[in-house]
Amino acid sequence: MDTTVIIGNGVAGTSAAAMLRRNGYEGAIKLIGDEVALPYQRPPLSKAWLIGSDRPKPTLLRPLSFYEDNRIDLMRARKVAKIDRNKRRIRFSDGKTTKFDSLILATGALPRRLDLQEADLKGIYYLRDLGDAAALRQALNNPSCHEVVIIGAGVIGLEVASAAVDRGKTVTVVEVAARAMARVASPVTANFVTQKLKNIGVQFLFNKKIDGLGAADHHVSSVNLGDGSQVKADLILAGIGVIPNTELAEAAGLDCDNGICVDQDMRTSDPKIFAIGDCARGTNTFASGKLRMETVHNATTQAQIAAAAICNKERPAPVMPRFWSDLKDIKVQTVGVATGYDRVRSDASQDPLSLEVHLKSGDRLVAAEIVNLPNRQSALVEEISLQVSPDTR
Ligand SMILES: Cc1cc2nc3c(=O)[nH]c(=O)nc-3n(C[C@H](O)[C@H](O)[C@H](O)COP(=O)(O)OP(=O)(O)OC[C@H]3O[C@@H](n4cnc5c(N)ncnc54)[C@H](O)[C@@H]3O)c2cc1C
Repeated sequence: MDTTVIIGNGVAGTSAAAMLRRNGYEGAIKLIGDEVALPYQRPPLSKAWLIGSDRPKPTLLRPLSFYEDNRIDLMRARKVAKIDRNKRRIRFSDGKTTKFDSLILATGALPRRLDLQEADLKGIYYLRDLGDAAALRQALNNPSCHEVVIIGAGVIGLEVASAAVDRGKTVTVVEVAARAMARVASPVTANFVTQKLKNIGVQFLFNKKIDGLGAADHHVSSVNLGDGSQVKADLILAGIGVIPNTELAEAAGLDCDNGICVDQDMRTSDPKIFAIGDCARGTNTFASGKLRMETVHNATTQAQIAAAAICNKERPAPVMPRFWSDLKDIKVQTVGVATGYDRVRSDASQDPLSLEVHLKSGDRLVAAEIVNLPNRQSALVEEISLQVSPDTR
């Protein structure tokens, strides 16, 4: 029987398994992940998970019955150590092997670690998986935790900042760049969100390089800035981006360049091996050049494409990229890819909590950002779609 092996059971891998079955794939599907938990959603880990008094439960991607009903062999707590392309098989870390006809790499990404001498002090947290979220939540619950420093004003940093301030902590965000959300949003949206977070008590330090960390009893006590100043810290959350998990692909000799290189069908440089989700880098109809996206929407879209290719079905029509972030009562949504724009038009609505931003290249709308206007999303998707060439709609 034909076998598809999927390495990584996050949203990309799990969606690919589901899409294979939806496309009528009759072969065996092995969905392998090194985490113990049933496949779960990561977005709540920096949002609902950190707020509220009840002990949170993981938000499952699918119930256990889904895997049984769809004959998906869900292999949890199993780490793949090697891909043998010649023999078309993978080897687990315990030495066992399994064969594949098609292989999907959905290995995700890992948080970038602080490059500081004091980086292994106690009190420093990262946020990627359930274990990280449980540890962070516990640390925030500690009554002696008052001063929280977030390193990095990206989406995860800001989400944790808003949760921590909600829990009564003194929160300072330290960012080396001149503004927040530099990778995901225009300056207009970023400044709007920054101001809203300032209003609820989050402090921001932009253009600040970190020189080192102060410690007391092997626990972090301060963040020392390049200008000689210090910020007190009982807890640090480092949200300084992720590194695509390309280790297996690189060792197998697949082309990698800030991600596993893929074509329009999500095929790697080996036609029987696909890569999807946070670990994959390729072209996108709605952006120029190659890019690697780190969103749930991208992971599920790419899963559909890879599944169609494996089932010899027509490639699905391009879907416009989408992203959301929840910062307490601020919901930020983006549509399209915010690159290659030269004009920004913003409409602050009557409601001081909402905003709509249009990013244009000449007269063409290439992307849009909305804050607290969820009902506008589909209209904006439509509007941008109308302005791209007919074959990409
Ligand atoms: C805290 C947090 C909040 C987020 N919030 C949002 C949001 O609001 N909106 C949004 O759009 N996106 C959000 N994201 C991003 C989104 O969750 C990711 O883009 C998405 O999870 C990527 O899915 P993936 O399947 O590609 O990778 P992952 O979810 O990282 O899954 C990869 C899996 O593969 C496993 N794996 C790796 N190597 C091996 C191996 N050798 N053997 C076995 N298993 C292996 C990993 O352990 C992991 O379980 C958030 C991410 C985080 C961490």
